[in-house]
Amino acid sequence: MNPDLVVRADTVLTVDDSFSREEAFAVYGDEITAVGTHEAITELAGPETEILDVEDQTVLPGFIDAHCHMTFRGRSDYLEVDLGPETVGSMDELVAELAAEAEATPEGEWIVGAGHDDTKLEEQRHPTRHDLDEASTDHPIMITPAGGHVAMVNTRAVETAGIDDETPDPDGGHFEREDDGYPNGILHEAASDPFEALIPDPTPEEDQAALREVCEQYNSKGITGVGEAVVHPEEIRMYRDGAKQDTLSVRAYLMVLHDHFDDLNRMRIDSGFGDEMVTIGLIKNFVDGAIAARTAYLEEPYEGRDDRGDLVISQEELDEQIMEAHKAGYQIGVHANGDAAIEMLLDAYERALEAHPREDHRHRIEHGTMVTDEIVDRIEELNLCVLPFSTYIYQHGDDKLSEYGDRLERMFPYNSYLERGIPVGGSSDNPAGLLPPLLGIRTMVTRKTRSGDTISPHEAISVEEAIRVYTTGAAYCSFEEEIKGSIEPGKLADFVVLSEDPTEVPADDIHEIDVEATYLGGEAVYTG
Ligand SMILES: [Zn+2]
Repeated sequence: MNPDLVVRADTVLTVDDSFSREEAFAVYGDEITAVGTHEAITELAGPETEILDVEDQTVLPGFIDAHCHMTFRGRSDYLEVDLGPETVGSMDELVAELAAEAEATPEGEWIVGAGHDDTKLEEQRHPTRHDLDEASTDHPIMITPAGGHVAMVNTRAVETAGIDDETPDPDGGHFEREDDGYPNGILHEAASDPFEALIPDPTPEEDQAALREVCEQYNSKGITGVGEAVVHPEEIRMYRDGAKQDTLSVRAYLMVLHDHFDDLNRMRIDSGFGDEMVTIGLIKNFVDGAIAARTAYLEEPYEGRDDRGDLVISQEELDEQIMEAHKAGYQIGVHANGDAAIEMLLDAYERALEAHPREDHRHRIEHGTMVTDEIVDRIEELNLCVLPFSTYIYQHGDDKLSEYGDRLERMFPYNSYLERGIPVGGSSDNPAGLLPPLLGIRTMVTRKTRSGDTISPHEAISVEEAIRVYTTGAAYCSFEEEIKGSIEPGKLADFVVLSEDPTEVPADDIHEIDVEATYLGGEAVYTG
């Protein structure tokens, strides 16, 4: 059988075991069938074979962003008011964006803002309910910031939720309060739950429109696979509908919140259930807050503060939840950023693995940002995978990370992980983190901030290693290394065409390389 497609490039970086360089490959259906020289592959072509000649360009396996929030990004772009640093630079501008949306929205309906980043605002703070009241008192307003752990609401929203000075703080969160105890509108962690519950879910049609938009953005950065890191039943529906309606052009590995564990387990919907477009992946938990919001849970207090960050679960609950999901045979992924949070998680994994030993569990630490030598030893011993933020040093290295002081030396420890053979997957955490995998690769290699400062250079890795993190490494973290992550016979024909070879340009320029085209299963899903 002749191939459907033959791809002839300047260089094909196959990312096989020896990182071999080839020139061409053949695709039949959605699968790669042969890899070799121009001559050898051209000989396979028949009269019907499409030839893709990209002879000045470099082809790589499609990038896999193993931990991101594609649906948050889609919904925020399509349904919410953009308050990101590119749109809004001051409190006045933030209020003006929300006021404009209020103007166009029937009284009483919710207005949701997204992308707010306090450190990028002139005022260097979050808006309170009084700031947001300037935008509207006729609509409840809620802002979910990029970090996802602190939210803000206006007075109308506080009233709508029936919350006042008498309302106690919920478990796992708190309201910031004014002198008389009335909430000031800034909500930490679980304190935003009662508000989120009031915001109507998007309709299936809105979801599909949002999904189409976000898939286009992801494809334009060369992404063909994602780990969707917060999944409720609505997101499962969204992805399944997207696969059926051809809205979905990124393969998704779903990380279902532990809240839904009983439902999945009762139906025996295990890790790996699904198909090559949408897979039920792992059970997701959280231990602590966020790095950028400076709520990660640390062994020692933050510089110049007396607190150690936020825990969102007790050790006892964490142990119990991990034990039950592990015992039932699921893969598990747990958000843990600070060194103290990671230690709690390691204890929980250790107990579960001692009670019910399992080979090749591939349990994961989502982020695993701050470590000690002892932590890295334990991660290796327990055979865990880690998914550190790939672009944070670039994005936040000049400002937010300064509150970690000397501990910055022990953060985003790519080299320490890879040296021990610990599996590492690429992860933007978009929309909290900047999306482009090429920026992630540049950051892992240079460890440079936006302004050009270098952070803990001893944790830098090579370009080849960084490409692996975003391809084979990410595929391994989701049990998909047999079908994804490299250009080899038998793998899915997911690939990206780049204007230049990232291993040949100066490392500082890697993020300037153009994504010329992205293919999923042998079909073009993006052309630049
Ligand atoms: Zn995340």
